[in-house]
Amino acid sequence: MKDVFCKIIDGEIPCSKVYEDDDVLAILDISQTTKGHTLVMPKKHYENFLSCPNDIALKVYAVARRIGQAEIGLLGAKGVNVLTNVGEAAGQSVPHFHVHVIPRYVGGEGGFQITMKGQDTTGMDLPRLASDIANAIK
Ligand SMILES: [Zn+2]
Repeated sequence: MKDVFCKIIDGEIPCSKVYEDDDVLAILDISQTTKGHTLVMPKKHYENFLSCPNDIALKVYAVARRIGQAEIGLLGAKGVNVLTNVGEAAGQSVPHFHVHVIPRYVGGEGGFQITMKGQDTTGMDLPRLASDIANAIK
């Protein structure tokens, strides 16, 4: 079964289009977590960032970058969060790779919250962990 983004790409569901080329589509997120919240995605279906080929992922991020610049230049955002979720455990709700570009306004967080809290690393062997990850990406 087609996911909602494939249906939008195929024109079966309407959207507020921000950008389109042969490979990439950008639309306003229907939730508008903050004003201007945009989703950038490849037109071809890839389940997530990790399964998307580099050349397509780079095109998606290049568009996300331009949209982030516009959100600051046009909408007056003071910052932008650019993020993608991989897998349900990370909060991915539609299994079609997409990048959120979320403008941030001073005093206007809207419905967006992100919290990164450090944890106690006692007992973690960080040099070993770094080495294990380094070896896995060789
Ligand atoms: Zn899809």
